[in-house]
Amino acid sequence: MDFELSPEDAAFRDEVRGWLAENRDQIEHVRAVNWEDGGERFERYREWERILFDAGWGAVTWPKEYGGRGASLVQQALFTDEYVRAKGPDRINRLGLNLLAPTLMLHGTAEQREAHLSKIARCDEIWCQGFSEPNAGSDLASLRTRAVRDGDDFVITGQKIWTSLGVFGDWIFVLCRTNPDAPKHKGISFILCDMHAPGVEVRPLVQINGDARFAEIFFTEARTPASNVVGAVDEGWRVAMTTLGFERGTGLGSPAVFNRILDEVVDLTRRSPRDGGVAADDPDIRRRVAQAYIETRIFELSSQRTLTRLAKGGTLGPEASLTKLYWSEMEARLEELAMDVLGPRAELAKGSPGAERNGDWYSEYLYARASMIFAGTSEVQKNVIAQRVLGLPRE
Ligand SMILES: Cc1cc2nc3c(=O)[nH]c(=O)nc-3n(C[C@H](O)[C@H](O)[C@H](O)COP(=O)(O)OP(=O)(O)OC[C@H]3O[C@@H](n4cnc5c(N)ncnc54)[C@H](O)[C@@H]3O)c2cc1C
Repeated sequence: MDFELSPEDAAFRDEVRGWLAENRDQIEHVRAVNWEDGGERFERYREWERILFDAGWGAVTWPKEYGGRGASLVQQALFTDEYVRAKGPDRINRLGLNLLAPTLMLHGTAEQREAHLSKIARCDEIWCQGFSEPNAGSDLASLRTRAVRDGDDFVITGQKIWTSLGVFGDWIFVLCRTNPDAPKHKGISFILCDMHAPGVEVRPLVQINGDARFAEIFFTEARTPASNVVGAVDEGWRVAMTTLGFERGTGLGSPAVFNRILDEVVDLTRRSPRDGGVAADDPDIRRRVAQAYIETRIFELSSQRTLTRLAKGGTLGPEASLTKLYWSEMEARLEELAMDVLGPRAELAKGSPGAERNGDWYSEYLYARASMIFAGTSEVQKNVIAQRVLGLPRE
């Protein structure tokens, strides 16, 4: 495992840090609007993505021809670290950037890469992930949305659910059954579909924290060209597993994110009143902060080990489930700790006097429950680890 930065990587980090510092006002401008302001905040995020892209920071590891700068994985990790520290806005097109784009680089055709990669990086196309259905979540291979070949097109009919960013989406990568007679994991295809095409209907879903960025997507004989199938027809399961590997193993669980949450929780413990003193005096809170420090440190070291392995040409296998299980459960414990430190103040809504971070802690606590569900629930990750990493029998 390498801890020392090469001179080239150190220069890269300094360049990122300098650029983010120069753009601090712009970052504040984007973050100044709440999600309640819906479209306005979204447009500021999009505008920010274009600024990143134009400066060459939109997708640093991608080849230059698609708007990247051909940076290494170590440099990608350095970029994310600096970005999180500078409180850079969430990457609004993260499903396109982190899931679809690397999948297209491995399984897509030259035409598909040409058509979409730069548009993803520049946020000209917002992408959604159309995997889950009302009766196909953990058991994804039970999906029933079907795509039938008709001339040069596939015609899609069915329903997807829990589609993140569904209300903003332009394009969606959909898992469809193309051969109903094949065994469950066969006969599925991974298809790109324009969400503005006739026959695609988006119905927003309101979440427990009040956001309505999710959606159900209904396909009623929606047409998409057959050239939009990624990988071979009926072989989409293999493509989807690549995508899930990226979702579980990289992108979402950056150590810097959790280090920042922990720093903020420690700060809260020093300021939150408790029994005539502050929460930091409480032995149970102190024990949990120490435990959280250990966990975030382990995650950081384990991420560095994964990075070193990838940088040496290794690949992400089912071990990605270990990463996902670890960070999502750690995140939930961190947010629970914040709730217990804040006590009754935790639930003060946005705009209330005395609400910490304008009520965001509570919203993040609720969202952390979701991290143990999306990209495969904790139980599903444990099944994968048991069967595919440890080689234990199924029964
Ligand atoms: C915030 C968020 C964002 C999401 N975004 C997207 C998106 O953009 N696109 C998309 O396609 N999907 C998305 N999802 C859906 C997500 O992938 C599914 O919710 C998830 O796969 C679980 O499926 P399910 O909800 O149908 O639950 P179910 O599969 O019905 O599971 C219910 C419960 O049973 C347990 N369970 C199920 N099977 C087993 C088993 N074999 N062994 C042990 N326990 C089991 C589960 O762990 C869970 O506790 C999102 C979900 C969330 C919460």
